[in-house]
Amino acid sequence: MPILPSGIVTVAYIGATILFILALRGLSDPETSRRGNLFGMIGMGIALVATIFGAVTENYALLIGATLVGATIGLILARRVQMTQMPELVASLHSLVGLAAVFVGFASFGDPESHFVGVEKTIHDIEIYLGILIGAITFSGSVIAFGKLSGKISGNPLILPARHWLNLGLLIATFWFGAQFVEQSAAGGGMMPLVIMTGIALLFGIHMVMAIGGADMPVVVSMLNSYSGWAASATGFMLGNDLLIVTGALVGSSGAILSYIMCRAMNRKFLAVIAGGFGTTSGSSAGGGEDQGEVAPIDASETAELLKNAREVMIIPGYGMAVAQAQHTVHEITKKLRSKGINVRFGIHPVAGRMPGHMNVLLAEAKVPYDIVFEMDEVNEDFPNVDVSVVIGANDIVNPSALTDPESPIAGMPVLECWKGDTTIVLKRSMATGYAGVQNPLFFLDNSRMLFGDAKETLDGVLAEL
Ligand code: NDP
Repeated sequence: MPILPSGIVTVAYIGATILFILALRGLSDPETSRRGNLFGMIGMGIALVATIFGAVTENYALLIGATLVGATIGLILARRVQMTQMPELVASLHSLVGLAAVFVGFASFGDPESHFVGVEKTIHDIEIYLGILIGAITFSGSVIAFGKLSGKISGNPLILPARHWLNLGLLIATFWFGAQFVEQSAAGGGMMPLVIMTGIALLFGIHMVMAIGGADMPVVVSMLNSYSGWAASATGFMLGNDLLIVTGALVGSSGAILSYIMCRAMNRKFLAVIAGGFGTTSGSSAGGGEDQGEVAPIDASETAELLKNAREVMIIPGYGMAVAQAQHTVHEITKKLRSKGINVRFGIHPVAGRMPGHMNVLLAEAKVPYDIVFEMDEVNEDFPNVDVSVVIGANDIVNPSALTDPESPIAGMPVLECWKGDTTIVLKRSMATGYAGVQNPLFFLDNSRMLFGDAKETLDGVLAEL
């Protein structure tokens, strides 16, 4: 007998669902995101308590023991993880959701107490098959995404010959094995097609993410987020748990919407990204070591001088700001300049950093006011009026070759057009390329200056001069 009566569990589930919806609503705006997170945490707390003491009927010792181990690992990870490692952490958490769906699928299939017969059994078998399929793709795809985001696997796309035919073949095979599985399961078997499909799904997940080129990784990260939701939803169907179905659908659909937004922001077609192969061409501007002319270095005091004499300043943060943890110094500089009557704005590219919203999170952490933080589309037209643009550890998102070189791996991606302003100061440590591995002609333009060094150190220097 469960400790909580089923009526209370249902009410708790409805409450948790409402809190999850409020959480998503809150997270859509920086002003309300803290509250959104809080709603999500309370909802998840209610969901856990209601499930542990309402839906589960036995084995409490095992369940609570495992929950404590999981919670401890989660707490340690959350405390230790650096902001720059967040994308990898998210990818690895998605992989766990996928793995859980696979395990639940096999456990559900092997459950000796399963009482389904006839059509109900067929439906349950299809739920199991789909759950394991989506779970296995999510698991292996997320493991590869983790490798690519952490630099353990090359960011270059792996393009196998006839890859679209390969994908199509794998898809047809999964349908065929699905039919085999349902048929054999009705006769008391079915393990073999299930195991073979799991292998195919794992291979498909690996192939899918390996084929994605550098600059298109954001779409994959949000797409795997969506998959992990559908995997959870499928698990909910297998277990007959309404809350899991709804929660999974919320994650799945919001991840799909995010993927669509990222695709639109990057001027990519969703299906084309999934099919893979972007970033395959090595155009004239690709590669790191080409000689594109001389760059003009600048030091901290000259930078401070330029900033003091400006009326309009645009700050463009990128992944390097997260690496250097320079956001607090950036805010100090912003305050100083604004106190001198200079209009300082932030221009945020949708794929800046290594996860959607990465820069907004960092700037919010440093308490930069939201009303001076703008999205790319809101400021891109204004660059001719900008006196100084400060590019802090960004590279791909300010690369003019995305607009001018159709052969470039990032061709067609909208970028922040800072070169149209008076002067652009680029803060980075070396002439190394960014995530997409493409050299940046911006650095060699006459109105660009390079402030070399770790962004935190150089900005501390600028702040001292100011
Ligand atoms: P990039 O990766 O293009 O460039 C970052 C730059 O920061 C590098 O050129 C590096 O140069 C510099 N840098 C690194 N560390 C420091 C430091 N300590 N101090 C100063 N500079 C530093 O980043 P962007 O933000 O411009 O673009 C994001 C890229 O990542 C895009 O290609 C995007 O598609 C991809 N991506 C985005 C994801 C997302 O969801 N947002 C997910 C996955 C990939 P140097 O080494 O010389 O210092």
